[in-house]
Amino acid sequence: MIPHSIETSSPAETEALGAELAGRLHKGDVVLVRGELGSGKTTLVRGAARALGVADPVTSPTFSIGHRYRGRDLTVSHLDLYRLTALEDEDPALLDDYLGAGKIAFVEWPVQEADGLARACLSVTLSHRGGDRRHVEVRDGERERTKE
Ligand code: ADP
Ligand code: MG
Repeated sequence: MIPHSIETSSPAETEALGAELAGRLHKGDVVLVRGELGSGKTTLVRGAARALGVADPVTSPTFSIGHRYRGRDLTVSHLDLYRLTALEDEDPALLDDYLGAGKIAFVEWPVQEADGLARACLSVTLSHRGGDRRHVEVRDGERERTKE
């Protein structure tokens, strides 16, 4: 993955970027998605999930830390850890259902010291640029992507 930085000017463009990123992912991969509220994290994940064959509506997890969707030949996990301040206070098994073999996981607003997330292969950071414009930066994560 070549790190890059682009600007989008509509939700559709951010979804398309999510779809492009999805094409480079493999089962077992974890993608961290950072950015302020309303910056487009869920929108980007929606585009990625679509591209991975998810037909169900992709919405923000509200009553749980995440959703799991059936994709083409894999599970797409979408976590929102906004409400968690520190993972070490939580049950270590909290993330187990969402990460691992056969799954690609997108994690919104990850806490800083998240052990389970050390395996992240890609990190996306979104920020507001006024109106519908968003800046999106894509970087390699803390760990190399899974090779298949
Ligand atoms: P987050 O998950 O970061 O809180 P959401 O994706 O839920 O953000 O919401 C982003 C909001 O901003 C949506 O209402 C979306 O329609 C709007 N929006 C406007 N322009 C863009 C853009 N360029 N990219 C992503 N979302 C945008
Ligand atoms: Mg969100």
